[in-house]
Amino acid sequence: MRKPNLGILLKPAGFDCNMACDYCYYRPVQELYPGADNPRMSPEVFEAVCEQYRALEPAEMKIGWQGGEPTLMGLDFFREAVRIEARHARGAEPWGNSLQTNGALLDEDWSRFLADNRFLVGLSIDGPAELNTMRKFRNGKPAFDTAMRALDLLKSGHVEYNILVVISRANVEHPEEVLQFLLEHDCRFAQFIPCTEPAGEAGAVSEHSISPGQYAEFIIRLFDAWVELDDPSFYIRRVDNYLHMFLGLPPECCEYRQDCSNLLTVEWNGDVYPCDFYVQERYRLGNVREQTLSQMLRGRAFRDFVSRAERLPDVCRDCEWLSFCHAGCFRHREKLGIGVQEMPYLCEAKKRIFSHVTPTLEELKARPDKAPRLHSFLNRLAGRIDAQRRQPGPARTASPAPRARAQPPGHPIGRNDPCPCGSGKKYKHCCGRKALVS
Ligand code: SF4
Ligand code: SF4
Repeated sequence: MRKPNLGILLKPAGFDCNMACDYCYYRPVQELYPGADNPRMSPEVFEAVCEQYRALEPAEMKIGWQGGEPTLMGLDFFREAVRIEARHARGAEPWGNSLQTNGALLDEDWSRFLADNRFLVGLSIDGPAELNTMRKFRNGKPAFDTAMRALDLLKSGHVEYNILVVISRANVEHPEEVLQFLLEHDCRFAQFIPCTEPAGEAGAVSEHSISPGQYAEFIIRLFDAWVELDDPSFYIRRVDNYLHMFLGLPPECCEYRQDCSNLLTVEWNGDVYPCDFYVQERYRLGNVREQTLSQMLRGRAFRDFVSRAERLPDVCRDCEWLSFCHAGCFRHREKLGIGVQEMPYLCEAKKRIFSHVTPTLEELKARPDKAPRLHSFLNRLAGRIDAQRRQPGPARTASPAPRARAQPPGHPIGRNDPCPCGSGKKYKHCCGRKALVS
């Protein structure tokens, strides 16, 4: 079986973490492994993952190291891991590794290793100290200073990094301050994820989570602040996905693609799940020590998950924003107890956001005076896409191709094409690589 667009998320230390953030969605996974006080992936399990993953012939071999806190594994494990990857490499093509961390254990040795092996590091910071209050150590100590020290290490060590911001009750009223904070600290690549943790009753969210109205307000103000900035090199993953869809390119984020079939999550002991929001016994696909990833992908459990996750809610069928939204992420419905006959949790927010973003992008593209650098960036991108459309031959893909019914018009940029942002790098080494595997 071939699975060219598959990415793997690894949880080498499982749910284990040296912090205890208020909104952590992964802590409950502990209940799945009672008695596992020190969950750690063995090199043998990792080797089995590499071997089985490579057999699926992915276009790029992409591993996202996540947790819990993956650096709890220690640097020696990671040194061994890159040796294992090298044994399973295809010619000179390197593996793409990304690592999501709270930064607490990073030091100069780590930073040297990460830079030497070209890891893309995602550092979790929710904004300035007064907005970063949900991120804390187990003893309640705030995590801000530790994260900033890690940021300095990444910068001085020339490690490629981006910032993961969780939008929670703590920072949701302050999108401009968060953006300003990122700018002040030269964090030019960021992704924003809404906290929408279930609270028991159907449709209810935890006290740390945000409402659909707050989400819409945050994203619209963030987008407007980005427009005002007029700097196309400032990358916000969500905005980049809006740009892709606006220009007729496939978005890279699964949330906008109605595609839950191109990601597998592997836990510390080799257990495999379809998505890291669905590490639950009912969704366990198997274990790499007993079955191959190929067998699991062909299995009933995986097919059932994908068809459930990708099934459109009734209210979405005639929606004008369907080709942009695709009902959003399954977790914003199913995990909140919202059924297919009900409105997805973020539906109204999405409608407000798309109704604001799309005409703004149209205006930016048409008028040079509002944001001259974005105007020229958008038109340069559009020109490249037009030129590609005129080329004969099959469409090329920049990122995993969405399903036919979900595909916006247009031919995407090839992985080896020059990046349309004008950096001079190949797309796969530039904007095509900026987002973590998730
Ligand atoms: S459930 Fe959400 S995060 Fe998981 S694969 Fe589907 S869209 Fe992506
Ligand atoms: S905006 Fe609402 S109705 Fe439209 S596709 Fe998204 S979730 Fe469905």
